[in-house]
Amino acid sequence: MKIVESIESFSAIRQRWKNETIAFVPTMGALHGGHLSLMEKAKSVGSKVIVSIYVNPLQFGPNEDFQRYPRTREADLELCESLGVDLVFYPDTQALHPKGWVSLTQVVPPIELVNQFCGLSRPGHFTGVATIVLKLFQLVQPQFAIFGEKDAQQFAVIRRMVSDLNLPVQIVPAPTVREPDGLAKSSRNSYLSSASDRHQARLLFRLLATIQELYKQGMETTDEALKLAMESVLNEGLYPDFQLEYLGAVHRETFLPTEILDEDTRILVAAQIGNVRLIDNTLINEPLVLPDRDGALMQLTV
Ligand code: AMP
Repeated sequence: MKIVESIESFSAIRQRWKNETIAFVPTMGALHGGHLSLMEKAKSVGSKVIVSIYVNPLQFGPNEDFQRYPRTREADLELCESLGVDLVFYPDTQALHPKGWVSLTQVVPPIELVNQFCGLSRPGHFTGVATIVLKLFQLVQPQFAIFGEKDAQQFAVIRRMVSDLNLPVQIVPAPTVREPDGLAKSSRNSYLSSASDRHQARLLFRLLATIQELYKQGMETTDEALKLAMESVLNEGLYPDFQLEYLGAVHRETFLPTEILDEDTRILVAAQIGNVRLIDNTLINEPLVLPDRDGALMQLTV
């Protein structure tokens, strides 16, 4: 496996691979099972798999966790190697932005996609994401790029950028990988230090699963289902560190809010547990499938 830090070395290899089908997985490192599933998907569509690892300063707000974001270089490289990744692109900010990243041409996603959900609490976040992803696409020139549905709003922003700017890359979705108790895998889960935090983090999954259940029972209005789910899940115990940021529903294609629950609805949730911010989402009908202890798949209930 090649590990490349400079743009010059990367471009030389990319030139040699000009007849390959490149499948690209952009990440911020601290790799876990969610990232690995993206790499597996990449292997199934490309002849060469390129993973980038870059903690992108542009997508963090001034009071966010850029400095303390987990950086686990050696473990990440071992995981990539064990999965058969062909190249890890590991640039630093100096290599990617030699003129500095404060004054920079940026990609601003459409307002209706970003003035809601994560875009409200993280102003500028999706501009930072779109800008770095476009830059990486320009360097890597992949035919396929794999993104997780775990970050549903990010997925919608990237897909829209690719369509609006006619980028010659196919965006491939990968389903959310979860812990055995339902918590979506995330690099930020490592911040959940106490058993109580971990317990409260599971409320995101339980809210989603409860809304799915209400839909199955025939509930059709979003407001009613969200309200009932909040009442039944959040009032059943004491959750002193859990602060719901949003619970909402959008159309799976347009990513615009929807008042009616139907098969095209995606439910989204974000919450703070102490100072750890977590997000999750699911399609209304999607089976919430989890690995059991033997690695086989099983379906989980609330
Ligand atoms: P990150 O390193 O957090 O920027 O994530 C890199 C990619 O991995 C993004 O496309 C994420 O959506 C995806 N990802 C993160 N967590 C998961 C998960 N639990 N399941 C599937 N994909 C994920």
